[in-house]
Amino acid sequence: MASTQADERRVQKIDVLVVGAGFGGMYALHKMRERGLKTQAIEAGGGVGGTWYWNRYPGARCDVMTIDYSYSFSNEIQQEWTWTERFCSQSEILEYANYVARKLDLFRDIKFDTRASSVEYDDAKRRWRIETEQGDVYDAKYCILSTGPLSVPKGVDIPGADDFQGELYLSARWPHEKVELDGKRIGVIGTGSSGVQIVSVVAHQASHLHVFQRTPSFSLPMRNAKMDPEYVAQIKKHYPAMREVTRMTFSGGTRPASSRPLFSVPVDERNAMLEEAWKTAGHNLLGIFSDLLLYKEANDVVADFVRGKIGEIVKDPDVAEKLKPKSEPIFARRPCLDTNYYEVFNKDNVTLVDCLSTPIERITPRGVIVAGEEIELDVIIAATGFDALTGALLSIDIKGKQGASLKEKWAEGARSYLGMAIQGFPNLFTTAAVNGPSALANFILLNEQNVNWINDLLDYMDANGFDTVEATEEAENKWLDRIALLASRSLMPKANTWYTGTNIPGKPRTFPMYAGGLGRYTEDCQLVAQNGYEGFDFYSEASPEAEAELAEEEAS
Ligand code: NAP
Repeated sequence: MASTQADERRVQKIDVLVVGAGFGGMYALHKMRERGLKTQAIEAGGGVGGTWYWNRYPGARCDVMTIDYSYSFSNEIQQEWTWTERFCSQSEILEYANYVARKLDLFRDIKFDTRASSVEYDDAKRRWRIETEQGDVYDAKYCILSTGPLSVPKGVDIPGADDFQGELYLSARWPHEKVELDGKRIGVIGTGSSGVQIVSVVAHQASHLHVFQRTPSFSLPMRNAKMDPEYVAQIKKHYPAMREVTRMTFSGGTRPASSRPLFSVPVDERNAMLEEAWKTAGHNLLGIFSDLLLYKEANDVVADFVRGKIGEIVKDPDVAEKLKPKSEPIFARRPCLDTNYYEVFNKDNVTLVDCLSTPIERITPRGVIVAGEEIELDVIIAATGFDALTGALLSIDIKGKQGASLKEKWAEGARSYLGMAIQGFPNLFTTAAVNGPSALANFILLNEQNVNWINDLLDYMDANGFDTVEATEEAENKWLDRIALLASRSLMPKANTWYTGTNIPGKPRTFPMYAGGLGRYTEDCQLVAQNGYEGFDFYSEASPEAEAELAEEEAS
């Protein structure tokens, strides 16, 4: 931690540094300021909203219902804001984030276009030194990393990508200015949630669209609709009570969750339930039986049902067959929600390229080469995913006690306690991060739960005169055992996805998220607090430096 005098002059001494101004960072900033702490947030983007700031590709839309995907901590906010659609567009969610930031007067304490480069613990001072790529230096007692699970795009790992002379866009770094796509020859690489949403829209703009699909995804009909004002009024009237309930559900939302295992339901009734879910809201398919993520044979029934629907929609049997996912259980990779995705493959201007049998060999100045033939393109859209869960944290040089690096600690996979604290990294917190439910739960409610829990922990420290908290190694080990146990019961670790890290070459294969649901996770966290913050070591007032001075004085 070499620093010059000039460096020291520009150090800004604060209580809390929050990294990220997505929904987690925004709430963390608000809550820390509310408790009277001098708090600064830094954000790599040019505005608030995190993922919704960056992912502004055509068709970008949330796959969680808007009545759930919004802050619950302020009834004033949830009464004042009115969503227009069941599943809202990226632009409306971004507007909401800006509305909240204005309402809470957050902008004055967020420095935009500022990316954390290093976060280092000073053992002597028991404080964090945070440096940014833009040259800022902060000296903070606490550091909260709200960097999001899906914020580092994987990029285009295909030879020749730099040679392309047309327009190449990453879905997760979509330009702010209007991109003209009408009448162009477009190629979309990737068919996860982002790719599926893009394809469903640009198919209607392109002169010709090639969809480069490697692993097919299961996609379910979103059945989006305008909000009925009477429904909105009903929700608003009962919002606070409703939130109390949804916070303790598996997903953190109003999606149905059943206690009935699939085979407990007679076949006719079961089929009617599947049809009804498909007709009304595809995501209900995940919740109408209790064992779809636990029992492969039950899962197979729903997977077959969806494969059947793909076959009914897509007219060309060969194309339909290629679109049907076969290698993984349904829901083991996050299901996509779409609006007429499979339908676009009936259009004459859409061609599916099966990259499992014919991978993209390379990108050329004029297009891409597949099976030895060049497909000419004006635009390539890469929806190739993210270095998820750990990518953003590990892109920062984080060093804890005695200079120990997080990268080394996590070489074999992420290790933390409750997904909020890391042994060896005192007074450093993460929100909605790896080792918690993260992207498996309603992201906004999870962030609220995490920030509230951290806030309560700080209350406890204040009440007991502690100034430093650190997770113990034993607690971390036990927590990881719990995560592994929950994962072992789930089908989710079976797929090659960003959940398991297999989408990034060289990343260790793990299933690092808490698969027990938001409600159970919240109870686990509450229990830790009730047991006097079991699994944490606390230190009081004096820093080691001061303690050493005291010891010297006493000795003399
Ligand atoms: P993703 O699910 O990881 O999908 C990436 C896609 O790119 C996969 O189909 C992958 O194929 C393909 N791919 C990667 N490299 C490739 C290559 N070299 N050649 C050909 N294909 C390649 O990423 P995502 O679609 O951005 O979604 C990530 C997550 O973000 C989602 O699961 C969801 O949680 C969230 N999300 C949500 C929404 C929403 O709320 N509606 C929208 C977008 C994203 P392989 O699988 O074979 O690697």
